[in-house]
Amino acid sequence: MRVLVTGGAGFIGSHVAEELLGKGHLVDVVDDLSTGRLENVQPLLEHPSFRREVDTVLNSTLLSRMMRGCDAVIHLAAAVGVQLIVSDPVGTIETNVKGTEAVLELAEKERKRVLLASTSEVYGKSAKIPFSEDDDLVLGPTNRSRWSYACSKAIDEFLGLAYWTERQVPVTIVRLFNTVGPRQVGRYGMVLPNFVRQALGHQLVTVFGDGSQSRCFCHVGDAVRAIIDLLTKEQTAGEVYNVGSDEEVTIKALASRVIEITKSPSRISFIPYEEAYAPGFEDMRRRVPDLRKLRKAIGFSPSYDLDGIIRSVVSYHQTPGVAE
Ligand code: UDP
Repeated sequence: MRVLVTGGAGFIGSHVAEELLGKGHLVDVVDDLSTGRLENVQPLLEHPSFRREVDTVLNSTLLSRMMRGCDAVIHLAAAVGVQLIVSDPVGTIETNVKGTEAVLELAEKERKRVLLASTSEVYGKSAKIPFSEDDDLVLGPTNRSRWSYACSKAIDEFLGLAYWTERQVPVTIVRLFNTVGPRQVGRYGMVLPNFVRQALGHQLVTVFGDGSQSRCFCHVGDAVRAIIDLLTKEQTAGEVYNVGSDEEVTIKALASRVIEITKSPSRISFIPYEEAYAPGFEDMRRRVPDLRKLRKAIGFSPSYDLDGIIRSVVSYHQTPGVAE
């Protein structure tokens, strides 16, 4: 099949494109390079089944043409990264909501299959662990810009599900949990590339808060496999799936493990949240996905454990010329 990947020059999108090509599919990518990078897809340019356009999904003439030519769309184009979101809330809301609207409208018109990427961020600060797809979303007040991201992605989910129930557009939603791996850059705040870069550079490893908050990290290769398997299973339409790993680690333990694996002399430095982000910033204490629904749908189990993930990110950062 021919798959349109929006945000296909981004960290996750470029891995999706590569995996689809490897499976013999045709791939069209559209990316405005706001956070995506052309070098992510550079090696794919030679591939006869790969095409790319540098533009926004809000260019309706282009999107309309690309949508007509494909069989399915994986919509990954979005504002990402907590630091970017806190510093540009208007851009975040507009990109996420208008972009998804544009994709869904055209998918309906052209009768295409859709996979929408959402985020574990939508669970907000829920204290119920693990997070299951049917759980309540617990968001903070509207004067904390972090929650605008969760809210904009929740609107995307509502819209996707509404297009399925009201207009029969086959839409599947994935909530991605802390996806990490090669090509992810630390510039937008993501923790693992920052820790690895700091450890390799013998700098202080910056843990925000007291480091007792925890996350589950999933290798992008595992997440991408799940995304493509879900897209190709028709029965997943109208459903929401958590995609990630359930191996939980505190951020402080993550910093120590990165320092050990890189054999770095770096020490950990604890930075208060208000210094790291903005005054009043609220973080999630724990974030663990319930993966039962995903396992049932596609028999998913992550192939990378935490050490394997860290090693893969370290070896990427040791490649000459890698972006920060
Ligand atoms: N974090 C940190 N140091 C950094 C970047 C992030 O301690 O240099 C923390 C951040 O405050 C959060 C966790 O690491 O508690 C994961 O952050 P990330 O932005 O990667 O993902 P999030 O789970 O917040 O979306």
